[in-house]
Amino acid sequence: MDTIVIGLGGMGSAAAYRLAQRGHSVLGIEQFSPVHNLGSSHGGSRITRQAYFEDPAYVPLLLHAHELWEGIERDSGIDVFHRCGGIMIGEPDSRTVAGSLLSAQKWDLPHELLDAAEIRARFPTMRPADGDIGLYEAGAGFVVPESSVAAHLKLAERAGAELHFEEKVLRWSTSSSGVRVETSHGTYEAAQLVICPGAWAPELLAELGIEFTIERQVQYWFAPSDVSAFQRHPIYIWEGDAGRQFYGFPAVDGSVKVAFFRGGQTCTPETIDRTVHAEEIAAMTEFVRARMPSLPVEFQRAATCMYTNTADEHFVIARHPSRDRVVVACGFSGHGFKFVPVVGEILADLVEGGTAHPIALFDPARLTGAR
Ligand SMILES: Cc1cc2nc3c(=O)[nH]c(=O)nc-3n(C[C@H](O)[C@H](O)[C@H](O)COP(=O)(O)OP(=O)(O)OC[C@H]3O[C@@H](n4cnc5c(N)ncnc54)[C@H](O)[C@@H]3O)c2cc1C
Repeated sequence: MDTIVIGLGGMGSAAAYRLAQRGHSVLGIEQFSPVHNLGSSHGGSRITRQAYFEDPAYVPLLLHAHELWEGIERDSGIDVFHRCGGIMIGEPDSRTVAGSLLSAQKWDLPHELLDAAEIRARFPTMRPADGDIGLYEAGAGFVVPESSVAAHLKLAERAGAELHFEEKVLRWSTSSSGVRVETSHGTYEAAQLVICPGAWAPELLAELGIEFTIERQVQYWFAPSDVSAFQRHPIYIWEGDAGRQFYGFPAVDGSVKVAFFRGGQTCTPETIDRTVHAEEIAAMTEFVRARMPSLPVEFQRAATCMYTNTADEHFVIARHPSRDRVVVACGFSGHGFKFVPVVGEILADLVEGGTAHPIALFDPARLTGAR
């Protein structure tokens, strides 16, 4: 094998595809089944947007990602990207609004600014406070994580990748001649290794010396009183008191998903409480009712998921600092999915020697004091 990819979730499925497409012989190894719901890439929807409040440095990657989704959909025949528009709501100086505006202006992205009355008139489901404004981006929307993973796995296999599921990597090592990966089923050797471990980063990448915090997050689905009002609806991120961000999606199959961004309990993949408790559901119902009164008529279901946070909430995408046959992609800090196709491309570039994509922000040295 030229390259082994560990982890076939969001990022690893995309890396396996890009490498195989470029003619590498690829072995992908995943501990669970294809498109499982035990990591970070499930729940039916992930926001994508380009006026990125987190940092304008992400924008060129997002411009490219939005182009790449089209190719993934065309080549796989699987729908992934739903362009329904998106609105970032909060006080004018909130991070959500001011940060999005900065990226929009810096990169000349099409956008509209709406005051609270205009938001209420255009999107009657939402009741922003009088001082709130919204930045609307017509090109925003959501991607379906399960469809993305399924599409990338299908394309990877079609391009010749060998994919193993229900096989756990126990340890990996490098030597001057290659890499060795020991799993629950056997031992494999290759020239290079790509590690996309999601919430298992503390286990598989302890040697990086980065402190990752795994965070339990809950996604909630409600049935609205009038589902048609939520059918043509933008995605939104809504910043309220104390910088707390709440977000949601249009109706999919009659259900509307909402969640909080951050503020979850710290856990590990072994200790995460996958039960969603009645108090949590009651608290979310009350929170939503104050902002979107027509939404939480009937609670339908909830599901937990994990964020893998770095200290500054920026990603880690790089060649391993002390193992030059190893490339890593981790610490996506709850906002990585929208980058999946471009991360796949970057990982394939790094395996081949280097990338032209701007990834200086994702250098692990910033987190380890090595820089
Ligand atoms: C509730 C929630 C909402 C989110 N919302 C958004 C959003 O709106 N927009 C957005 O852009 N992002 C969002 N994200 C973040 C995004 O989903 C993640 O950044 C992304 O899914 C991370 O992908 P990954 O490949 O790193 O992890 P995963 O998809 O979890 O993949 C890691 C894989 O590695 C495998 N693995 C680990 N260890 C081993 C081992 N030892 N052997 C074999 N296999 C192994 C795991 O089983 C897993 O399949 C959200 C995340 C959550 C949880």
